[in-house]
Amino acid sequence: MSDAGFELASTQFFDTITINTDKAQALFKQAQEKNINLRLLNDNQLTIAMDETTTTEDLKSLLAIFGQGSTLSCFDKVEPCHGQVRESVFLTHPVFSLHHSETEMMRYLKRLENKDIALNHSMIALGSCTMKLNAATQMYPISLPGFSKLHPYAPATQTQGYQQLFKDLEHALCEITGYDAVSLQPNAGSQGEFAGLLAIHAYHQSRGDAHRNICLIPSSAHGTNPASAVMAGMKVVIVKCDESGNISVDDLQEKAQKHADNLAAIMVTYPSTHGVFEVQIQKICDIIHTRGGQVYLDGANLNAMVGITRMGEFGADVSHINLHKTFAIPHGGGGPGMGPIGVKAHLAQFLPGDPLVKDSNAVSAAMYGSASILPISWSYIKLLGKHGMQRSTEIAIVSANYIATELKDHFPILYRGDQGMVAHECIIDIRPLKDESGITEEDIAKRLMDYGFHSPTMSFPVSGTLMIEPTESESKREIDRFITAMVSIYNEIQNVISGKWDRENNPLKNAPHTAHEMSGEWNYPYTRTQALYPVESLVANKYFPPVKRIDNVYGDRNLFCSCITTEDFK
Ligand SMILES: *Cc1c(COP(=O)(O)O)cnc(C)c1O
Repeated sequence: MSDAGFELASTQFFDTITINTDKAQALFKQAQEKNINLRLLNDNQLTIAMDETTTTEDLKSLLAIFGQGSTLSCFDKVEPCHGQVRESVFLTHPVFSLHHSETEMMRYLKRLENKDIALNHSMIALGSCTMKLNAATQMYPISLPGFSKLHPYAPATQTQGYQQLFKDLEHALCEITGYDAVSLQPNAGSQGEFAGLLAIHAYHQSRGDAHRNICLIPSSAHGTNPASAVMAGMKVVIVKCDESGNISVDDLQEKAQKHADNLAAIMVTYPSTHGVFEVQIQKICDIIHTRGGQVYLDGANLNAMVGITRMGEFGADVSHINLHKTFAIPHGGGGPGMGPIGVKAHLAQFLPGDPLVKDSNAVSAAMYGSASILPISWSYIKLLGKHGMQRSTEIAIVSANYIATELKDHFPILYRGDQGMVAHECIIDIRPLKDESGITEEDIAKRLMDYGFHSPTMSFPVSGTLMIEPTESESKREIDRFITAMVSIYNEIQNVISGKWDRENNPLKNAPHTAHEMSGEWNYPYTRTQALYPVESLVANKYFPPVKRIDNVYGDRNLFCSCITTEDFK
């Protein structure tokens, strides 16, 4: 570019260069005619971004636009700028150089897969996480180049398909939630919370109420709620729960009244993180509204509501929707997820705007967040339709209640609604058994690995408990397998209580048992079969945890690397 007489905005750059030119508009148009998208920063600046997929042919076409012929002699004399050459070694782990054939790569990936208890092995009843099927049909479209290769800022004229998908999805989510407008920008539920609170703040500000900064949060809330409130500059005031796990309406009334002048919002989860439909929800919303506050309803438990009730109708003003929970986007490795927010009409103008525009309430670097995974939720909604989604909700709730009923004589169900039912998940209380036997919720979680199951959610939202959410995806047969495992574990705990098994040296405390322990000496006071095959069905389908129990607290406090040198890798 310099050779062609153009002025660069900087001398050092990574993958993007900015050119200062009064011909920016014309060059931008010429490039578009050649199917090249440049970015027009303003009338006098143009940027060009490159990546590893840019070919020599692309460069030739590009340079031609800037009147730089087609010779790429400059390639020969490219010398990285001083100070930008990496001198340290990198990617030294043998794994980056070992697998050179597809066969080896395939086996390597399979070996990694074998180490995991994933949904392709057994149900993952993680309460609050909604680990439902990610159907292959729904996943398929995200590999299509039309979805996967588009730049988030490709010109609108080139993204008509995506625009249609956004509209469809926004419309469907409005229908499902009873809200008036949806933003597809937030990349996670937590980011949706942040975006929602920014919208609430902007709303208060627009009414001359910028001082409203108190956010009421019940003690049962997900940890992201208070974190988001603090990030949005609010002050958190905790509201108590009663012994049935419901928000204490008395305490709420008192705190809402006390902070009435400065009340910004409440963040409330429905059905609650305790797994029950809180019957006072409308009253809770009213208490906040009459004192000038807004209701942020955490929509993570939407899987218990789709087709049955709509949060926009019972008093909430804004919610996030975890597409990676309720609407089938896979999650478990940490993302990417999507946490769109829905709002009532009065908040619509405060939804996140274009991140390239200053002060637009944007929470992400692109207008539509992780747009490329939206086809999954779109397909889920289109394939199931209204009745299919309602049926899914019903089965999710029935399955949770079935588990609660089957397990209640072994593990008390901590919270239930007025009519004795739970919502789409249930919390079993381990504390009474723990007091009697010394067996902890963590011992049970680890022992479940020996039975081939991922543990349910542990110690959230109540310490010393397990929260179980089967979702609609699991068959009765699989749920029964899980119940059998839990009942068997209960019986094992009875062995500890009765003194038949040692209190410290038993299959629960020593769980999980690894494949390595199958061979060699056996130093436990119980048999290998008791340890590794406690129920019959495991003979046909056994999962071996690759590592024994680790010291969580030590691991959290001490950073260490398990990397090995090439020489040591056998
Ligand atoms: C999962 C969850 C969140 C947070 O959502 P992320 O997408 O993980 O950020 C918030 N609240 C509740 C109740 C949840 O279950």
